[in-house]
Amino acid sequence: MSCQFNFSAGPSVLPKEVLLQAQSELINWNATGMSVMEMSHRGKHYLSIYDETEENLRKLFCIPKNYKVLFLQGGAITQNFMVPMNLLNQKSASYIVSGYWSKRTFNDAQVFGNIKLGATSEAEHFLKAPDPKGWVTSETDAYVHFCMNETIHGVEYFEIPKNIAPTLVCDMSSNILSRPLDIDKFGVIYAGAQKNIGPAGVTLVIVRDDLLDFSDKKTPTTFNWKIQSDNKSMINTPTTYSIYMAGLVFKWLLDQGGLQEIEKKNKKKASILYEYIDSTTFYYNNVDINNRSRMNIPFRILNDELTMKFVAEAEAEGLYQLKGHRLVGGLRASIYNAMPIEGVEALITFMEKFKNNNS
Ligand SMILES: *Cc1c(COP(=O)(O)O)cnc(C)c1O
Repeated sequence: MSCQFNFSAGPSVLPKEVLLQAQSELINWNATGMSVMEMSHRGKHYLSIYDETEENLRKLFCIPKNYKVLFLQGGAITQNFMVPMNLLNQKSASYIVSGYWSKRTFNDAQVFGNIKLGATSEAEHFLKAPDPKGWVTSETDAYVHFCMNETIHGVEYFEIPKNIAPTLVCDMSSNILSRPLDIDKFGVIYAGAQKNIGPAGVTLVIVRDDLLDFSDKKTPTTFNWKIQSDNKSMINTPTTYSIYMAGLVFKWLLDQGGLQEIEKKNKKKASILYEYIDSTTFYYNNVDINNRSRMNIPFRILNDELTMKFVAEAEAEGLYQLKGHRLVGGLRASIYNAMPIEGVEALITFMEKFKNNNS
């Protein structure tokens, strides 16, 4: 059977409507006789795509005027280096570790100087995120870095941390655009595209404009937020096609009714899956109830030996990429914006059948 629903953590499912539109425009965009892939990034056709993409994102995410939107390269991981290069300014910074990705960010930043651990939930096996009330930061920190949604551990923050002195810098790679947020509570938000934005290749950075003045002099031009911002993210050739695809996704989200509507759907999808898991003793998820991710739902079978059988039989029914991350094992359903509720319902139906056949 072919894939009906794709639960991959990333690169992940895209809205069918978006793929169909891209297909219809693939070799001839808007009667130009050219594919978007073949256009000069400085030509009027491509610039119109780029500007509309940024405008739609601003509208969708209610991005205030004093924030710059950058479409960069290197993935979210490259921001592990770009954040300190652009922001540390010979000061200190605090890092919150709530799972695999934020731990990697903390480790990657070490070479830049005074990088402090502000809180970690590693001793609790990353089954919860450190409560912001217990974050240890300093007023003299250039920033505090945290990850809003840990894609592997399935641990998410639902409230923006309050009363934190340093500027908030946030990795939102796997939950960006899953709900409305007050952008002005953050200094910097960044996200790799391949989870909730579009195809891999482009990295979104949203940065408050007063934070653009602190880059280290040795920062290469392509890594320098200010230089990229002054050049429409085109100090070199941007990932033109990925940006175009992201633009189609932003339009699709607006057509869905924007982030308020998307949030409602995401809440519903996650709650039916968690409720089902909790209703059985066959499956379990141990993440703290306050931090259970709406995007990435890791779960296990009490009899771990059934895991690979589950993955194979699910795939035979068209439910793809349910294997957990290799570091933690088990199973994981990633149910990003583009996953319809029918996909989650099909998964639950399969899980029930698998349970009955194996218990
Ligand atoms: C996937 C992911 C990353 C890594 O992204 P790349 O684009 O592969 O560099 C970083 N942080 C989080 C939260 C992620 O989900």
